[in-house]
Amino acid sequence: MDLKKVLNDIVHEIKPELGVAKVADYIPALAKADSHKFGIAVTTVIGETFQAGDAKVPFSIQSVSKLFTLTLALREVGDGLWKRLGREPSGNPFNSLVQLERENGVPRNPFINAGAIVVADVIVSAAKRSRHDDPAGNILQFVQTLADDPKVRIDRIIAKSEADTGYRNVALANFMKSFGNLENEPEAVLETYFKQCAIEMNCVDLSRAALYLANFGRDPLTGDRIVKSEQATRINAIMMTCGHYDASGEFAFKVGLPGKSGVGGGIIVVVPGKMTVAVWSPGLNKQGNSHAGTIALELFAAKTKSSLFGTTGRKH
Ligand code: GLU
Repeated sequence: MDLKKVLNDIVHEIKPELGVAKVADYIPALAKADSHKFGIAVTTVIGETFQAGDAKVPFSIQSVSKLFTLTLALREVGDGLWKRLGREPSGNPFNSLVQLERENGVPRNPFINAGAIVVADVIVSAAKRSRHDDPAGNILQFVQTLADDPKVRIDRIIAKSEADTGYRNVALANFMKSFGNLENEPEAVLETYFKQCAIEMNCVDLSRAALYLANFGRDPLTGDRIVKSEQATRINAIMMTCGHYDASGEFAFKVGLPGKSGVGGGIIVVVPGKMTVAVWSPGLNKQGNSHAGTIALELFAAKTKSSLFGTTGRKH
């Protein structure tokens, strides 16, 4: 399959979808993103990289970071993690409080904000136990290593902008603390959470960084074991069922691959055993997923016949 041509065709076909959707503006620093941008990159398990469009332009990965922190937390505490959070789709917006109250402060899954805050708490505790008490620094270093790029960084302006306006995340963290589901002080956990969301990288880096998930938990290019094979399988399963907020069912229906999106307009997708695909376009649909990115992935799945459920329909 000529992946270079597939990506170039997608960049061409996606043009009418650019600039039509609004970028996230509830975090003021994110509102500056340009909704005409579009990038796509593929990394295969044998180490080929293909890219097209704005694939080298750095963007704020936001909730895509939840994938990497989940990986770190599973490395730290293994299945013990599931005593503190579930793995069911929430069917609710990513920052909903109501469900959390009904379910006694135990978040539905690690990809809604409440769940990711519990995951950040695990990482804060692990940093305290280690000699390196810098949880956000540990997350950044992990992602830099996975991406094989020391230029991956935390955008301090975005982290601060989110900390200044993240009232709902503050509420979620305090609420869980009151239920006894946070070990550390909410402020420390939120600082880590806001910084992980503000990680900035490009599509090429992102597809490289997630490659272990396409290769049973081992980085195929360095040979390093990142997580156990069964943990990688589980992460992929949670991406499939919970990776797109309350549009996860729709993404499975249209694309049919495990994916994780963020309100910066990035999406990472895993084609198990084969490759990863990262897309970025900041205009969002009403559930907060990249509008053009989602359509591009539909096109990709159709053109490469890579939906896990069979062939899919969008014209190709
Ligand atoms: N930092 C964002 C928030 O907590 C992440 C949102 C997202 O990408 O889903 O609001």
